[in-house]
Amino acid sequence: MATIFSKIVAGEIPSYKVAEDEQFYAFLDINPLAKGHTLVIPKREVDYFFDLEDDEIAAMQVFAKRVATAIKKAFPCIKVGQAVLGLEVPHAHIHLVPMQSEKDMLFTNPKLQLTAEEFKEIASKINKEII
Ligand code: 5GP
Repeated sequence: MATIFSKIVAGEIPSYKVAEDEQFYAFLDINPLAKGHTLVIPKREVDYFFDLEDDEIAAMQVFAKRVATAIKKAFPCIKVGQAVLGLEVPHAHIHLVPMQSEKDMLFTNPKLQLTAEEFKEIASKINKEII
């Protein structure tokens, strides 16, 4: 059975897309720690990031770098934090979170409640900065 993230890639479940290429897809986390919190996933279904093939990890990290650079331009921050958790969704993903402080990476923090309009605006702002 397809994972929820594969359904997102297929367009069966809506998402706020930030970037895409042949292998990877980036979209806003629906329960963001900060405005701009983005998930980067491989289109190929693999449960856990560290189970990906070496060349896929390398390519995914380069793709995530492009997304992180765009996030930093769209949402000025000290740095963009990166995390691999994978405790909830069994489809490999990287979290990218714009940080104003170390505390912004605490996944136990309360999540932002954003409207559909706000999500759309955030995704579009980041997408415009993708090179
Ligand atoms: P993890 O597996 O890394 O522990 O957490 C999965 C992340 O995916 C969570 O931050 C959660 O908010 C996000 N997430 C789960 N389901 C969806 C979904 O259907 N759409 C989006 N955009 N994000 C999701």
